[in-house]
Amino acid sequence: MNAEIIAVGSELLTPTKVDTNSLWLTDQLNAAGIEVVQKAIAGDDRVRLAALIAGAVERSDLIILTGGLGPTEDDVTRDAVCQALGCEQHFHQFLCDAIAERFARMKRAMAENNKRQAFLIDGAEAIPNDRGTAPGQWIRLPSGKAIALLPGPPSELKGIWMAEIERRVRALAPPLAIATAHFRVAGMGESDLDQLIAPVYTPYTNPVTTILAAPGDVHIHLRARCPEAAEAQRLVDELGTKIRELLGDRIYSEDGADLETAVGRRLAALGATVSTAESMTGGLLGQRITSVPDSSTWFRGGLVTYTDEMKRTLLGIPADLLSRHSAVSQPVAIAMAQAARERTGATWALSITGYAGPSGDNVGLVFVGLAGPGFADARQLHLFGDRARIRNVAATLALDWLRKKLG
Ligand code: AMP
Ligand code: MG
Repeated sequence: MNAEIIAVGSELLTPTKVDTNSLWLTDQLNAAGIEVVQKAIAGDDRVRLAALIAGAVERSDLIILTGGLGPTEDDVTRDAVCQALGCEQHFHQFLCDAIAERFARMKRAMAENNKRQAFLIDGAEAIPNDRGTAPGQWIRLPSGKAIALLPGPPSELKGIWMAEIERRVRALAPPLAIATAHFRVAGMGESDLDQLIAPVYTPYTNPVTTILAAPGDVHIHLRARCPEAAEAQRLVDELGTKIRELLGDRIYSEDGADLETAVGRRLAALGATVSTAESMTGGLLGQRITSVPDSSTWFRGGLVTYTDEMKRTLLGIPADLLSRHSAVSQPVAIAMAQAARERTGATWALSITGYAGPSGDNVGLVFVGLAGPGFADARQLHLFGDRARIRNVAATLALDWLRKKLG
């Protein structure tokens, strides 16, 4: 069972007004086991809206419209639904009385144009709206499909949904159990990752696979829906196993934990500690490590050495090493990591030195160093993007290297 949401209102097409109703509705529909397959935002234009509704009725089992039920000429949802379905709407005195009563309760005069809200589409059920004047409408088509016309103001939408619409929607959809899996991968671009795993997940329509990418960090979500919970879990496990086989230790968490948390947990489990020596990232790596609660268990400290002088005086990097190779070099990255490890007594130390730009040559050239028991090395990275991205991805790749080294 799938659904489509259409948010109606020209104000929603401006840069200042956000369609929040469809987000809330999507949450509600997902909880009822219904997938939202398409969303649209339409201006207050009857002809365009009617075309959109007609297409939605072709494609989807349930169409939810919000907004455009008001009393003014620009509220066209009822008219557009009639046009799309080729049916009519008629004035109903009982609806008009209910609206008039509401105005009387609020001690306000009812305007003539409020009578527009007393029109009911032929065959539709009028749905009382306790929080506003515009009643909702619920239409069942001969095909079994359904259309809901709901008010736009968020509080009215929520009220009418909870009181009246949710149970009608749930009665349409057979209850489905949902099983999910969530893999997080660092150090791989979205397109490389997709190329690798697409052959495995594309044959599956259930579970549905979605890939969310942030710089240096990709999340893979699997979501299976079946009448039986065990079957949903079996499908997620089956596809999850295939994805795990392909990605191996590139997966850093399966429970939603972020990279710094995954690294922290691993260090804690091993009784190991880490320190940092940062140049280009100016403390960002240390900030990320210490964003995790209890990080004092595994983080000993960080040295931010931005200038060559600070690299010499705080870390003891030999002046001739800096002058021979420059601060952005593999030997200096290694020396920074080793010095941070020695000076703090940590089991492991990470270093970062590079050019974050935007001006200058070699923007994106970064060295990440790692020192540990019997180990010291540095990796050269070529990162792209703006300053924020380069700094962030460098910190991510440093953390991920340590994670893999910890095993
Ligand atoms: P309407 O029912 O189209 O007269 O909408 C009444 C008011 O509800 C609008 O002026 C908006 O402030 C609000 N509204 C309508 N649609 C949405 C939406 N999709 N998301 C958030 N607010 C909305
Ligand atoms: Mg409107």
